[in-house]
Amino acid sequence: MTEGAGSSARRWRDKYLDLLDSHEKLKNSSEQQHDQMRRGLVMVSLLAEGQSGTVDKSLSDLRESLKPGSSGMTRVLDELERAVQRFEEQNTAQAEVLLGQLSDAADKLSQCPLPKPLMKQVKAVRKNAADELKTWSGYISQLQSWMQIVGEIATLDGYDEARNSKWWQRWFRPDEHGTEAPSGAEEDGAGSDEPEPGFSHIAEEVSETLFSLISRLVVPERLNYQAESLKSRLQDGLNWYELVPLLEDTADFLLQCLGNSQTEFEQFLQSLDQRLQAIRQLVSEAGQSQTERRRARLDLDSMVREQIADIRSVVTGSGDLGELGTSVRDHLLLIVEAMDKYQQDEEEREQRLEAKLALLQGKLDDMEKEVQDSRVAIEEQRRRATHDPLTGLPNREAYQNRLEEELSRHHRYGGALSLVVCDVDHFKNINDTYGHLAGDKVLQLISRSLRKQLRDSDFIARYGGEEFVILMPETNADEAMLAAEKLRQRVEQSPFNFRKERVPITMSFGISEFYKLEAPDVVFERADKALYRAKEEGRNRCNMA
Ligand code: GH3
Ligand code: MG
Ligand code: MG
Repeated sequence: MTEGAGSSARRWRDKYLDLLDSHEKLKNSSEQQHDQMRRGLVMVSLLAEGQSGTVDKSLSDLRESLKPGSSGMTRVLDELERAVQRFEEQNTAQAEVLLGQLSDAADKLSQCPLPKPLMKQVKAVRKNAADELKTWSGYISQLQSWMQIVGEIATLDGYDEARNSKWWQRWFRPDEHGTEAPSGAEEDGAGSDEPEPGFSHIAEEVSETLFSLISRLVVPERLNYQAESLKSRLQDGLNWYELVPLLEDTADFLLQCLGNSQTEFEQFLQSLDQRLQAIRQLVSEAGQSQTERRRARLDLDSMVREQIADIRSVVTGSGDLGELGTSVRDHLLLIVEAMDKYQQDEEEREQRLEAKLALLQGKLDDMEKEVQDSRVAIEEQRRRATHDPLTGLPNREAYQNRLEEELSRHHRYGGALSLVVCDVDHFKNINDTYGHLAGDKVLQLISRSLRKQLRDSDFIARYGGEEFVILMPETNADEAMLAAEKLRQRVEQSPFNFRKERVPITMSFGISEFYKLEAPDVVFERADKALYRAKEEGRNRCNMA
């Protein structure tokens, strides 16, 4: 009998140890999963940065709390949720203010004697405002619609007479310092008795609206200067003839700021938020089931201890061997039953946990893929925004950015910097003779050929049509002239064939150097004039300013 009890005790001890072992394994796998989840969250939180200061702060706290060994993730997620919510509320509130300002502006315009179609347009734009102001892309569309309206007002028939009318004086009166319209039209002073400020109500409305709009944007660092200069133009006050260019500049700025990816990115953030919530839920459930397991193990442990204590007291207190045997058997039976029950529960718990972890893993995989996809998409959008699709060369915007970089380097460290402007000769003839598609092909070949000939440190962009600009750092005008001459020869000698017929292609070049602290426009103008001279002098030549 002692032998039987000994082997049974060994059996359940082994069982107990096995169970502990499988707990350990499960615990390890669950820790691994948590680790992956942590990494996923860190990655995603990095991608979501830059939308709002408070959200950024919470994201950074979140990353801190995700470091191995730190606790308090739930608290940080709560804060993040609140920050995201606050950001949303702020956005909505600001959109309402903007909507009010736009409505006021539209009301004022509605009182003006505008032609019917234009009035209709004002009403339609106003009607759309509420819907459009819900999304970033809607802002651009609103702004463009207003720009069109103001543009059309400026080109109304009888515009000059209208400008002298009382109505026009009231709305678009030049300021008191006598700043005049570029057309030089005379003001007759009508309305000078009106006690209004120096510029129109409408300009004030527009300024305020644009100012709020720009202030609420999260401006990328490289555009800070542009944002500040737009704001100061708005604060300085507007004259009627400044409205259209200002609206155009603001629309340009918005497009640069938001990029085409903005809406997609916004949607991505929304889905990210939902996923974070789901993961948070899963994490807390997984945590609960860990607690449950710990409790079950402790229950089992104390139950086994109690039974053994009972056995011990029976052994020491009883002299009757038969009674002792029955009692020990009963106790052992209870222990084995408890062990079985524990094991069964444990298996169920394990299955539940595994299912949850699999779900979590699935969500993490989805998120990882989504992060990857949106990173690729954002990269592609960024490339599209700065490159010309036909030739693959950087576009005019990319040129402006590079020019700023080169100029700041030039101002800081000195050294030479030259600019080359070049244009294909008689390109219109190529289009007319061989067709537009052949023209496109020529542009592609020329672009490739110019890029190949230049140094890596030179920067070439398609400035527009069949015109290119080249920035040459560490190169003075004489050296740039030599480089341009090589480019000219290369294009002239390139074998452009169309239907087996050789098509002669040539280009003309204008060269100028940046002298100390010269404004870039002045340097560009000089190069452009030199190019013009090269054209006048017979084309297919280089000319230095
Ligand atoms: P010049 O020597 O004085 O520069 O004469 P040009 O004919 O090259 O100059 P002009 O400005 O009269 O004509 C430029 C032409 O380039 C007109 C326009 O249709 C064409 N062009 C501009 N962009 C493209 C393009 O992307 N593809 C094609 N095929 N043609 C283009
Ligand atoms: Mg040309
Ligand atoms: Mg041209």
